[in-house]
Amino acid sequence: MRWVIFSDLDGSLLNYDDYSFEQARPALERIKKLEIPLVLTTSKTRTEVEIILGEMGLEEPFIIENGGALFFPAGYRGWDMADGIKVKSYAVIQLGMPYAEIRAFVKRMTPRFKIRGFGDCSVQEIADMTGLPYDKARLAKEREFTEPFLPGDEKDIEDLTNLVSKSKIKIARGGMFYHFIGVHQDKGKAVEIAKGVFRRHIGNEVRFVGIGDSTNDIPMLERVDIPVLIPHADGQFEHVDLPNLVRAGLPGSKGWNDIMEGMLDDLEKRSN
Ligand SMILES: [Mg+2]
Repeated sequence: MRWVIFSDLDGSLLNYDDYSFEQARPALERIKKLEIPLVLTTSKTRTEVEIILGEMGLEEPFIIENGGALFFPAGYRGWDMADGIKVKSYAVIQLGMPYAEIRAFVKRMTPRFKIRGFGDCSVQEIADMTGLPYDKARLAKEREFTEPFLPGDEKDIEDLTNLVSKSKIKIARGGMFYHFIGVHQDKGKAVEIAKGVFRRHIGNEVRFVGIGDSTNDIPMLERVDIPVLIPHADGQFEHVDLPNLVRAGLPGSKGWNDIMEGMLDDLEKRSN
């Protein structure tokens, strides 16, 4: 049995507060050794993910900006990638809208709602809001498809949601921010496309694992065989009702590591 793992970053594989994945190193090393594809599936930008993959020592496909686009490295596993368009060293499948269109929408909304999007903020303001160091906050601002934002008043979200329902944009909720994203994208839609690519290349005998912690991860968790939920930093779980749902015991990278090591133990036992 082959596995493919889709994983959220913030609050799941990365700690909520310090964005570290160091405590997940043991599981990451085993995943690498077993040659299990690990597809980072995040609201982060392409450059943020490229740097994290480099730090992890991985060359794997990834899904950025809440399903805005799916990137397969050129020559990945020696596959002849017929999917997607060639952009630099990737085959790219794009689901999201251009960032300029999302920003134009935000600008139209700002007279009515006190929305503060990343495009309205300086790099230093993003660093202050997120707790990211300045150089990483700069990469978080390099959006291609989606706009993370905070509403001036939490009560505005309902009105905003009603309003966007008439447009080509919808709202996704992550751990720290809301995100304006295109109606034709979410993590689940991108995961579904990625599953098709993996099945074509490694066959139907593959089990898909998905790991996340927040509302925007639910479409991804709904489309995998083994959905795994990581608790929030306060120990509370997002409300998710799915058959086979596995709950991690701890938040962040430590929770990710422990649940994954347990699952890898089972996988290795069964294949021995
Ligand atoms: Mg998250």
